[in-house]
Amino acid sequence: MNSKERIAYLRGLLDFMPKEEKETKVYSAIVDALAALAAELGEQAKLLELQREDYDSLADEVDDLHDTLYQLEESLGLEEEDESGVYEEEEDDGLEEMTESYVSMTCPACAYSFYYKYEEGKEDGKLICPSCGEEFSRGGAP
Ligand SMILES: [Zn+2]
Repeated sequence: MNSKERIAYLRGLLDFMPKEEKETKVYSAIVDALAALAAELGEQAKLLELQREDYDSLADEVDDLHDTLYQLEESLGLEEEDESGVYEEEEDDGLEEMTESYVSMTCPACAYSFYYKYEEGKEDGKLICPSCGEEFSRGGAP
């Protein structure tokens, strides 16, 4: 019998036994129930301890795996390559934008050199010199 069954048995004794017989039987039943309960608690504690040890060793293994993976990545130079690759890409984009979007221009009226923003489809539009305010065609110069 487990502790639950022993306690149910004890409750049955209390409910149905005549008073004279009750005392000895009830006390021994109480002791049995408590002993069973204590034994079960001990078992549970042991199981919990075992599970905790399993968990600890599992966590250690995961840590070791993580370290190994990190060392592998480092020896392959994976992380370093990724970072420099991204950096170079960003730098290229910046240069392209500068060379593609801005065009050097010299004012035909005052010879002031400046950059204007190149816009596709507006090659024949008018430009205004930021120095003298002269208006001229941006596509007109040879
Ligand atoms: Zn000008």
